[in-house]
Amino acid sequence: MPVYAMNVFKLPVGICEEINGVLAKFWWNNNEDRKGMHWFAWKRLCLSKKEGGLGFRDIESFNLALLGKQAWRLLQKPECLMARVIRGRYYSDGNILTARVKKKSSFIWKSILQGRDLMKKGMRFVIGDGSIVSAWIDPWLPTHPPRAPIPRTTRICSRATYDMVGWHYNKNGIYSVKSAYWLATHLPEFQVIESPSSNMVLNKAIWKISTAPKIKHFIWKIISGSLSTKETLKRRHIIRDSTCLRCCQQEETASHLLFECPYAQQVWRGSGLAVLNLADPMIPLEEKLETLFLDRALTSFEKNFQTVLWLLWRLWKSRNSLVFQRRSIHWRSLIRYVNRDVMEFLNTQELMQGIFPIGNGGSRPNRTPEGKWRPPPTGWVKCNYDGAFHNRDVSSNAGWIIRDENGTYKGSGHATDNKPNSALEGELQALIIAMQQAWIKGHRKVIFEGDCKEVIDLVNRVTLNFGVYNWIREIWFTLNFEE
Ligand SMILES: [Zn+2]
Repeated sequence: MPVYAMNVFKLPVGICEEINGVLAKFWWNNNEDRKGMHWFAWKRLCLSKKEGGLGFRDIESFNLALLGKQAWRLLQKPECLMARVIRGRYYSDGNILTARVKKKSSFIWKSILQGRDLMKKGMRFVIGDGSIVSAWIDPWLPTHPPRAPIPRTTRICSRATYDMVGWHYNKNGIYSVKSAYWLATHLPEFQVIESPSSNMVLNKAIWKISTAPKIKHFIWKIISGSLSTKETLKRRHIIRDSTCLRCCQQEETASHLLFECPYAQQVWRGSGLAVLNLADPMIPLEEKLETLFLDRALTSFEKNFQTVLWLLWRLWKSRNSLVFQRRSIHWRSLIRYVNRDVMEFLNTQELMQGIFPIGNGGSRPNRTPEGKWRPPPTGWVKCNYDGAFHNRDVSSNAGWIIRDENGTYKGSGHATDNKPNSALEGELQALIIAMQQAWIKGHRKVIFEGDCKEVIDLVNRVTLNFGVYNWIREIWFTLNFEE
């Protein structure tokens, strides 16, 4: 992909389509399917894996997302050399958001303006003193895409002194090509792609499986109905006879081929896996796949699970040798191949683990470890607070307790306040209330202690969260306890 050129030039639509075409051709031809049949529209494959696609890139949208990055730089770094040169030539009023194409504009500038238009769609203002934001025109509501009012419970910081502009689609408020690409392909005007009919739970599950990529793609094809069995080929008027070549009795559907054909049944029995009902033609294919991929009993043993995956793959391979090479593979040999595949795969995994240790799963410590309460230093009090959040339609609760250096109780309370939009906002709200209460009670040297690491990091400026920026600002202002 010509990514470098796409950073500065907007490729003509024709070329984008041509590149998409080449990629599509490569993908479909590279597979088992010999005729190189394109089973789905390219745009459907461009859906993310979560959405049932394969996560290919739509070239034009990706191009715009890259160009948007240049526009973002011009906006955020107006003093860099590139910005000064372009500003001098094309927008001497200094506002890139309203800049237009002029006579004799360079191709690069015209390209950047197209990226700018995408960037504008994902930009959002955080209102401070309202000096640069026009509340009725500028997008400041955190919607998709951001827009001007009518407001819900967007926090407006009572003491903020400046407006701020950020990128709505990233937590930290900074433009990224990935999120801009997502926006470009999810704008209302982007040609709507029919959401695939396949089972979304299964679809999400397959991409998380630890196995060879070819197996994942193979399973995806089964689920999305694009495995080129005789039945699908007949449905598309490519062949006339769809009888299974193995048993010559039934139609060759994916379900028949992988589970119901006597040959497949023999293989499953011989594999020693205790999976019931797979051969029952009355049970839909989807249900069988759910049993295989979502059933805990089976997936708890890695080896069993891998055997299922490789067995499906080998059944398909063996069908292809029969159809295309007229070569029949005995079911015993097939099981031998499967066992060998599984051993090889597991050994490689083990080796990789040794080289790149993955650690203890993906559990993220969002909560700080709950240690014993420790008293504050002499002359200080400590305020422990916590916020409870149920959902967006219920007011959240906040509680706090203040104790001094000896652990003596100095007051506590709880409050019900606004309806925040998330658990994080609930925590921030609790902190603000606790701070106000401590101040009212006359405490000036206070240590605030909460159990949400995210809040602590945000307040201490370790991380940035654009979405709750006005909450954080409020806390920063309230922090000036000693005046
Ligand atoms: Zn058969």
